[in-house]
Amino acid sequence: MRITTTPQMTCRELVRLITDYLEGGLSRRDRRRFERHLRDCDGCTTYVEQMRETVRLAGVLSEDDLAPQARDELLEVFRDWKSR
Ligand SMILES: [Zn+2]
Repeated sequence: MRITTTPQMTCRELVRLITDYLEGGLSRRDRRRFERHLRDCDGCTTYVEQMRETVRLAGVLSEDDLAPQARDELLEVFRDWKSR
């Protein structure tokens, strides 16, 4: 069954919300949308896993820890999708 009342989260939105997600700061609604997106999106799943690992290693999460390389790779993916 497809729920149409909740808009699909986009990859960009997910990237923007990822720190809140990892810190448990998302509302239940956003969290559900976040996790639903992850089920359908390998790129974001990988990104979240890398972020989790970063948080685990660093112990804290700050903007500086946003694995720039992973983010750049993800943005490459966005560009590819758009050009298709
Ligand atoms: Zn995605």
